[in-house]
Amino acid sequence: DLDRLLASVAVVGAGPAGFYTASQLLKNPDLRVDVFEQLPVPYGLVRYGVAPDHPDVKNVIQKFASLAESPAFRLIGNVTVGVDVALADLRAAYDAVVLCYGARGERKLGIPGEDSVSNSFSSRAFVGWYNGDPQHADLPVDLTCTDTAVVVGQGNVALDIARILLMPIDELAKTDIAKHALDTLAVSRIRRVHIVGRRGPVHAAFTSKELREMLALPTARLVADAAWLATQTSLYSDLLKKDRARRRLMELLLKGASNASVSHAESLKRWSLDFLLSPRGLVLDKSGGAIAGVEFEMNALSGEGLEQRAIGTGELKQIAAGLLVSSVGYQNRAIEGVRVDSKLGHIAHSRGRVDGEAALYVAGWIKTGPRGVIASTMYEAFETAESLLEDASHVL
Ligand code: FAD
Repeated sequence: DLDRLLASVAVVGAGPAGFYTASQLLKNPDLRVDVFEQLPVPYGLVRYGVAPDHPDVKNVIQKFASLAESPAFRLIGNVTVGVDVALADLRAAYDAVVLCYGARGERKLGIPGEDSVSNSFSSRAFVGWYNGDPQHADLPVDLTCTDTAVVVGQGNVALDIARILLMPIDELAKTDIAKHALDTLAVSRIRRVHIVGRRGPVHAAFTSKELREMLALPTARLVADAAWLATQTSLYSDLLKKDRARRRLMELLLKGASNASVSHAESLKRWSLDFLLSPRGLVLDKSGGAIAGVEFEMNALSGEGLEQRAIGTGELKQIAAGLLVSSVGYQNRAIEGVRVDSKLGHIAHSRGRVDGEAALYVAGWIKTGPRGVIASTMYEAFETAESLLEDASHVL
């Protein structure tokens, strides 16, 4: 319970969760909100995650910027909570603290060399590189040494990366992509992108919008086995009947695959969704320092429907490639003074109130786990702000 006049709230993290939480709180004229951000600039993944060719998505920045003009709002940049200032000190100085610091970590493929071999990158680094994140501006991306890229993961981030690799350079030049990335992409020799997942097409995590964008690429075409995709559609017909979004996705994929069989100019680049494969190792070039390919184990599926798990069959398959981007998900990490529940994958809470703590709240990816879009982040942030205002209602 907040037992004195609630005057000031500290928000940790200036991503969408931080801004949406602040926007709800500031509807109450008795409140002041200070947002602490580790970077010198705000907006989190809207700035350094969302793809540069999605300007409509980045438009929320304008709303956030106008909120920041409120005299009751302060942004304190270049301060990493848990390093530069202890969470305990913030909790002592403010009436309430809302943790909105997002997902600080990422999942690994778990294969030797993924972090040390040249031209092997995590999606966080690669996406940060093309979005001008100063932490990744010097990423040594070489797109001249190979014509094939492997992206491991089949979520929207994987499709963003594949799209950026395949988009016409003059289209990219119209976006706010970082200059160093545009220069590197301008001399790219990449003509083939494999987007690899451990399960099947009905399990893929990308959405129709991102798939449609891939299918609409003017300079690249999908390589796919339409007959196999049709078999998958009938195999999962019960599931697809109940799940409209997934059915739509399969229909799109099938349509794309059927169009792909119509002859296309050889000059087009190509991309594919490669299913039922788990990475097991890197294939290195003769020097031993650069990627020549990725070795995968072929999977079978066990269980039912969407819950099915990938089980290795022991059969191996290599995909020759000189660029690897692993895009298998972000991961929540604790900062000093809080615990991330390892089973839940986020800080344990009830409607945004951190379990077992007074006047400590959580919103955004650190509340839900690293999934969901800006809109869902907004609703979750509103719920947290409501909980806080409810707890403080007797003093406000
Ligand atoms: P974040 O946006 O990560 O913000 C967290 C902030 O906290 C960051 O600014 C970080 O620097 C800061 N921080 C971290 N640790 C500390 C600390 N210790 N002290 C102080 N500050 C700290 N959604 C869409 O709707 N459309 C899209 O097209 C889209 N594209 C995406 C592309 C990528 C590559 C990714 C990864 C996500 C994308 N999303 C998209 C999802 C969207 O970005 C998230 O839903 C949203 O950003 C989550 O908000 P958040 O505030 O919880 O986290």
